[in-house]
Amino acid sequence: MADVLIIEDDATIRTALVRALSAREHSTMTAPTALDGLQSLVAHPPDVVLLDLGLPDLDGASLLAMIRAVSAVPVIVISARDDGAGIVALLDAGADDYLVKPFAADQLEARIRAVLRRSDSARPAGPLVVGPLVIDARARTAVLDGVPLELSPKEFDLLSYLAERPGEVVGKRELLSKVWNQPYGGADKTVDVHLHWLRRKLGESADEPRLLHRVRGVGVKLVPPP
Ligand code: CA
Repeated sequence: MADVLIIEDDATIRTALVRALSAREHSTMTAPTALDGLQSLVAHPPDVVLLDLGLPDLDGASLLAMIRAVSAVPVIVISARDDGAGIVALLDAGADDYLVKPFAADQLEARIRAVLRRSDSARPAGPLVVGPLVIDARARTAVLDGVPLELSPKEFDLLSYLAERPGEVVGKRELLSKVWNQPYGGADKTVDVHLHWLRRKLGESADEPRLLHRVRGVGVKLVPPP
């Protein structure tokens, strides 16, 4: 089961896709234009995107480039044309797979499952360990010194993002972009507030850090204690 974002301007096809995917226990979001689709993707990050190439406001390649600037979500391109060269260009531009209309619902389901398997295996297989901190991305659990942490979803995402890059200084702009999906900037305060909460849950403070260290003027880094 996946959250599927359908970007398709043809209402008949959209409805048919929603029906087919819902019948297979997926949840769907729909967008009739490229810009609606992009907005939806940022507001509610889906597990997979179905992208119709013929949209009224932007061509598929431009939209794909915009999606790739903000997200690594798997994208399955749906093309009405039998456009070999265009499809190769889109796959090069970061599409994960494609289907040419008309296609059977079972075909679509098989493609969705295939791209989800691939994106799943791109995640770290085992738990992340940074000193006394153990993070299991699949179970979405974090344990510090053997004690489970009670983290909000965003706190968990933030901690995971830093734990995947131990010792690396990560800027607030990068955190806004990758954890909050706000590549065009936003309130730095959001990051500060969440870092503050996260520190409290880790039982430390900015002035007396143990794992989460502030690098003034640059960002933060997560490092195992000595
Ligand atoms: Ca279309």
